[in-house]
Amino acid sequence: MNRKKFMGTLAALSFIPGIMKLNELWRLTENMPATEKMPVLFLGHGSPMNAIEENEFVAGFRKVGQAVPRPRAILCISAHWETAGTRVTAMQNPRTIHDFGGFPQELFAVQYPAPGSPELAGEVQQLVSSTTVAADDKWGLDHGAWSVIRQMYPAADIPVIQMSLNRNQGPQYHYELARELTALRSKGVLIIGSGNMVHNLRLVAWDKLRADNYAFDWAVEASERMKTAILQGDHKTLIDYTGQGASFRLAIPTPEHYLPLLYTLGLAEAGEGVQLFNDKAVGGSLTMTSVMVGGG
Ligand code: ZN
Repeated sequence: MNRKKFMGTLAALSFIPGIMKLNELWRLTENMPATEKMPVLFLGHGSPMNAIEENEFVAGFRKVGQAVPRPRAILCISAHWETAGTRVTAMQNPRTIHDFGGFPQELFAVQYPAPGSPELAGEVQQLVSSTTVAADDKWGLDHGAWSVIRQMYPAADIPVIQMSLNRNQGPQYHYELARELTALRSKGVLIIGSGNMVHNLRLVAWDKLRADNYAFDWAVEASERMKTAILQGDHKTLIDYTGQGASFRLAIPTPEHYLPLLYTLGLAEAGEGVQLFNDKAVGGSLTMTSVMVGGG
């Protein structure tokens, strides 16, 4: 409900004696869990250094963090947690996992002490009926989650849980699993898929890492076709990514960074608005292109 509509409703009730001052009541409701339908995000996370660096991509994460309604909790599907079967983190205090090597000590020192949410983990387990979602007390927050969520919510005061990628299942399965989580959007839960649409680390042009929007021809082609399909709501093409030819094969040599996109799109309602941001390539073979479904 927007403020104007809210005030209108209150004005209509103002004959009730002793009603709370309008501004006071508005302030109270602002702190209550969001009930409007939350947007869904796909965040191109790129290098773990985005957790501590200042650049245009982290500015983009921050901006989107300010643009979306404050969530009650966050559910992240990260490229960096693949399991046999689907799992959901259910611990009270997830640890910060530094699942990378060869980066400065400064990055290993980062902690993101957001609480978990055993309650939300339970809700996920209940909502999903196509498979058994196992409660996990071992994982935590991997860098696919914390490196980007840290930029959006630096205070680490919003509970975060992760759901794993079942490595034994194909794209259609992941897309349909996402659809089972739709109800969470109306319960103030921000769902974030974290990966990269074009992600071929073997082919990175390391000498071009600092060049602005540097992409190989095949990466441009794959990226443009992916974006067109996203904006046109053509999810069929995106689910059938292995049937899209050479540029997609180079862009998606392994599925884990791509699949989180299918979760984000699986949660879109027909006809819902979709926006792209951070739409740039890095090092030739990686795109940071990110997606917001819904949210105006
Ligand atoms: Zn990654």
